[in-house]
Amino acid sequence: MNILLIGSPGSGKGTQARLLINDFDFAYFSAGDILRHLSKENTPLGRQVLGLIRRGELVSDLLMKRILVDFLKKNKGRDILLDGYPRNLSQAKTIDQRLILKGGLNLVFYLRISDREAIRRLSSRVVCCQCGAVYNLITSPPQKKGICDYCGGKLVRRADEKLGAVKKRLLIYKKETKPIVDYFTKKGKLMFIDGERPIKEIYKEIKKSIDALCLDTKAI
Ligand SMILES: [Zn+2]
Repeated sequence: MNILLIGSPGSGKGTQARLLINDFDFAYFSAGDILRHLSKENTPLGRQVLGLIRRGELVSDLLMKRILVDFLKKNKGRDILLDGYPRNLSQAKTIDQRLILKGGLNLVFYLRISDREAIRRLSSRVVCCQCGAVYNLITSPPQKKGICDYCGGKLVRRADEKLGAVKKRLLIYKKETKPIVDYFTKKGKLMFIDGERPIKEIYKEIKKSIDALCLDTKAI
């Protein structure tokens, strides 16, 4: 079973992915986490990734494919959950083909939120520069302003979440995602999810679809 979560930055797909890996045994591929992790490494690759994130630009196809192929090799035979990757049609087709022996991508969930909501969510997010804990100033603020509850570290806004960079990311995202949406819609594998509802409600809907898919697969 191979699942893909797509949705604009701030749509909450990372949150849903974390709930899913609690309930299912997925090998989890988060493009955002992997890139952020790389950007902290003081290597040529790390510095390159950091520069891209700061400018609100995307990492090249070639580089992302290399990272993904590495991940698939390490997790051969396992169920896969992809979050934030593929970003364009060429990447989507590559993955679909690589996973073809396991039925390709079985289900694609598209978490949709409005631009206004995306901007509101992203601009209220801060992260601890020591332990990486994420806070939302509106929905889950820290106890002390600017200080991490867990480790006392300083809370900062991520460079890729300043307003100019956010708007640019949303534009690029839409342009690149449309062909992926069309591709999986034609295959009957795409599900639109209203991402502006409570987290638990969204999760219930996603889980129900995956449970149904599991039953189908077992029946075959
Ligand atoms: Zn912390």
